[in-house]
Amino acid sequence: MDYLFPPAPPASVGIVGRSERFPVHRIYCVGHNYLSHILETGRDPERESPFFFQKPNDGLVSNGAAIPYPPATASLHHEVELVVAIGEAGYEIASEQAENHIFGYAVGIDLTRKDLQQVAEDRSLPWTAAKAFDRSAPCSDLTPKSDIHGLTAGKIALSVNDRLRQNGDLRDMIWSVPEIISSLSRMFELKPGDLIFTGTPSGTGFVLPGDRIEAIVEGLQALRISISNPD
Ligand code: MN
Repeated sequence: MDYLFPPAPPASVGIVGRSERFPVHRIYCVGHNYLSHILETGRDPERESPFFFQKPNDGLVSNGAAIPYPPATASLHHEVELVVAIGEAGYEIASEQAENHIFGYAVGIDLTRKDLQQVAEDRSLPWTAAKAFDRSAPCSDLTPKSDIHGLTAGKIALSVNDRLRQNGDLRDMIWSVPEIISSLSRMFELKPGDLIFTGTPSGTGFVLPGDRIEAIVEGLQALRISISNPD
């Protein structure tokens, strides 16, 4: 096939212990999946339930990178999240079958222009500018599920310049990973290469140029990035 200009290179993430990379199809994200984060944003948990949004796959940033402070914000927030990688296609997947569709897991940060998110919420606008900007999806290498035994509980945490900011537990997710996969697959056909950012616990806050961020989920490769001066 001839293209008018060279197509963008495929988005991908590394795989722990393998030389192959995992090609990334779509990036789905879950909002409001931890009670502690719903409460810190001042929302009413009785009236909230998790929901989905997306980031572009070319927003991925590899482990160890320096991310230039993005334009159009004065409030860049960190949200540490467990990332689930889909290895098998599926539509209308039952929760009990969800595990069969998982390739592995990673640690991600849902970088957010919090000020633009507030504007969007105030004016009932989409979250695209707040969530789906360039380099908004740092992600560690994937650990294949065969290398870890279930991931239903365990520490999920983030520190900035070695000071602990977020400190939660995966068991506090409102929707479990199988429930997320089941629910998402009723709206979208899941494909191998899809990544799902599964939501953040409390302690989110802003970062500035010069900051070093370390994000961890117990059992997975730690994600370390830094924020550099704007391009
Ligand atoms: Mn998030």
